[in-house]
Amino acid sequence: MVILVINAGSSSVKFTVFDMADQKKVLASGLIERIGIEGTTMKYSNHRGEEIKGEVPVKNPQDAVRIIAERLLDAKVGVLKSLSDIKAIGHRIVQGMDKIVQPVLMTADAKNIVRDCGVLAPLHNPHNLMGIEACEAVLPGVPNVGVFDTAFHSTMPPRAFLYGLPYNYYETDRIRRYGFHGTSHGYVAKAAAALDGRPLEKLKIITAHLGNGGSVAAVLNGQCQDTSMGLTPLEGVLMGTRCGDVDTSAVLYIMKKEGLTPDQADNLLNKKSGVLGLAGVGSSDLRDVEGQADKGNKLCAQALDIYAYRVKKYIGAYMAVLGGLDILVFTAGVGENSITMRAAILKGLEGIGLKLDAAKNSVRSPEPRVISTDDSPIKIHVIPTNEELAIAEATVKLAS
Ligand code: ADP
Repeated sequence: MVILVINAGSSSVKFTVFDMADQKKVLASGLIERIGIEGTTMKYSNHRGEEIKGEVPVKNPQDAVRIIAERLLDAKVGVLKSLSDIKAIGHRIVQGMDKIVQPVLMTADAKNIVRDCGVLAPLHNPHNLMGIEACEAVLPGVPNVGVFDTAFHSTMPPRAFLYGLPYNYYETDRIRRYGFHGTSHGYVAKAAAALDGRPLEKLKIITAHLGNGGSVAAVLNGQCQDTSMGLTPLEGVLMGTRCGDVDTSAVLYIMKKEGLTPDQADNLLNKKSGVLGLAGVGSSDLRDVEGQADKGNKLCAQALDIYAYRVKKYIGAYMAVLGGLDILVFTAGVGENSITMRAAILKGLEGIGLKLDAAKNSVRSPEPRVISTDDSPIKIHVIPTNEELAIAEATVKLAS
């Protein structure tokens, strides 16, 4: 069964084509960037190792899906004989609020809900929806399935998802913690249980998805109990350009002092803060900041220290939430690749059962692996995330 997975953003469309019947093999994948901006480019590669990269005439998501379809059928680099080989399309959708908490077929009703949920994800849901409509136009008759970033967190109890604001803001505006990266947290929690050889339903797991954005989740018996991102992906740990947890009064103070509009404040907190704002070397990429810290830049070293400390605090908090811990999982760009950041986060946690094996931590590998010592009471895993595969699996389940 061939499944196309689409992740449509504000100016990019990412795609992956899986043959689910042939060991979930990736037939082709790629990305169209700078849609609607000058110099729109496409990267495309297939399972034979052929790659193409170049400018494409794409002005909107519909053009993007049309070009993707053309490449998939291309005589040279294509991987399909006919578009009718595609049995279903899975879409990443950011915000489903508490209205959609499972993968769903994108009927007219479901699309209306995605549109409504856009009030809380104005930079994402409208683009996700355009991706679905583009697929409906270019691939008519193929079912579209929506898989929501927020869905995995829908099992959080009210004590975890309610803020200490007047209750009417929850009742009337649904202001609460929703959490994000749910497809990734769910995927790596399941993979960690499989690697450990114990049932997910009997495990206490903390998943740390640390990429450009970052979030931590507490997972009890396969169900999310709490997560660090909130109403939007701004709350929680320190991120590349986002501040994470901050006293809201600090924001109000800056807004008043500098006369910032809400949009300007939003930009400051989401795009200019985090590692970028603290390190002050013009990069939010941990590789750059680690490089500068190694050369003696004190602000960079401090930013990394704050990054590690914040994740450490969430680990401690979620161990309390879960009443113990069986497995801690690191995933995403930083979690999978930064040997030094993992070590910094875990430093001093031996006493609460997290013993890192320095040699195992130093191994680079694309495979899921254990990096704790053999006698560590709590296992520590590195599990490469694969949100596209998780979306494809959910899509197959629903489409068949
Ligand atoms: P996104 O949140 O955009 O999906 P990723 O999960 O791909 O991001 O993570 C990207 C980030 O991972 C980069 O910005 C960088 O900070 C970090 N990263 C990637 N490789 C390394 C590495 N070898 N060492 C440290 N950080 C890394």
